[in-house]
Amino acid sequence: ASTWANVPQGPPDVCITEAFKADKFPQKINLGVGAYRDDQGKPYVLPSVLKAESAVIAALMNKEYAGITGVPEFTKAAAILAYGADSSALDRLAITQSISGTGALRIGGAFLARFFPGAKTIYIPQPSWANHAAVFKDAGLTVEKYAYYNKDTIGLDFEGMLADINAAPNGSAFLFHACAHNPTGVDPTPDQWRQIEAAVKAKGHFSFFDMAYQGFASGDIHQDAFAVRHFVAQGHNVALAQSFAKNMGLYGERIGAFSLVCADKAEQKRVDSQVKIIVRPLYSNPPIHGARIASLILNTPALYEEWLLEVKEMADRIITMRAALKANLEKLGSKHDWSHITSQIGMFAYTGLTPEQMDQLAKEHSVYATRDGRISVAGITSENVGRLAEAIFKVKG
Ligand code: PLP
Repeated sequence: ASTWANVPQGPPDVCITEAFKADKFPQKINLGVGAYRDDQGKPYVLPSVLKAESAVIAALMNKEYAGITGVPEFTKAAAILAYGADSSALDRLAITQSISGTGALRIGGAFLARFFPGAKTIYIPQPSWANHAAVFKDAGLTVEKYAYYNKDTIGLDFEGMLADINAAPNGSAFLFHACAHNPTGVDPTPDQWRQIEAAVKAKGHFSFFDMAYQGFASGDIHQDAFAVRHFVAQGHNVALAQSFAKNMGLYGERIGAFSLVCADKAEQKRVDSQVKIIVRPLYSNPPIHGARIASLILNTPALYEEWLLEVKEMADRIITMRAALKANLEKLGSKHDWSHITSQIGMFAYTGLTPEQMDQLAKEHSVYATRDGRISVAGITSENVGRLAEAIFKVKG
């Protein structure tokens, strides 16, 4: 028998793109993609990224390895972006470049699995980004869920969330989406974050933030970092996964960072040494090209200002498309309350449509998205929003 005769067939990676490609209808709409599209429905390379990339190429740098923790000018600037230039965390921060946000979560998961003093368990929201549970389980953690989404209000289950924070054993590890919760688009308000922080502190819990969308949610990098910065200001030594996939459009370059706020310099040194011990056998050291691009943008004032405007432009287009979808549904005479479409934030919107209604959208209207009712607002354009609203109206009323 073949060596691999015992390998079972795994379930397919749920792929909307296949069904979308196979559809011959010219006005078909793909709302399954997790990447930004411009108003023509095309992938978007940020002009600031193109400029930085040209400069990187023109500099004719060598291709020697970075250190285990990556390009230092990049990680230093990434930390400032997340925590703020005047943050007390910066000089006691263990940070490493990572294979985008996913890699940052994986390093963090492995670090917790090795050194977290409590149970090797992490609490993630219900629902959460589909990959969170898989990443943390593969890193050696047990995954538990905390209440997050209320399907009746299509909003935050704030009471349930606080109750689960209070019910977890003291000193548990909690994962929070820093902003633009994926898949629901539902975020706590600043005031709710303050109450969450107080509950987390009272229980002595540890907070791990996943920030995959800084700037991309509100258009303001500071506003989107509110939760992380507030927790740090209140004395939490948080862990943080950062991604530059969305806010710089560097998706395939795989650029991110993992950091841990430490108690002091001595602790930072020890943590840093162990982060290196985790990274070294995983992939030795991270890719340099995207890190040089991101570093140049973050460290060059003119490019940085330009990038901030481009992030805001992307966020604003998404916010505009939310409003357009809601307005079109109301114009058609829909009696449902669609205010969640505009109150939610980030790339994704939870429509509240059932799996059957989502199937109907695909079969009868050539509108493709995941069966949980999540649509990627980035896939909506001025051109297709009218037809999309009609399709949703026909399916849901
Ligand atoms: N975390 C969340 C919540 C996400 O939505 C994503 C991407 O969709 C990621 C992390 C990681 O993405 P990447 O590894 O491309 O940075």
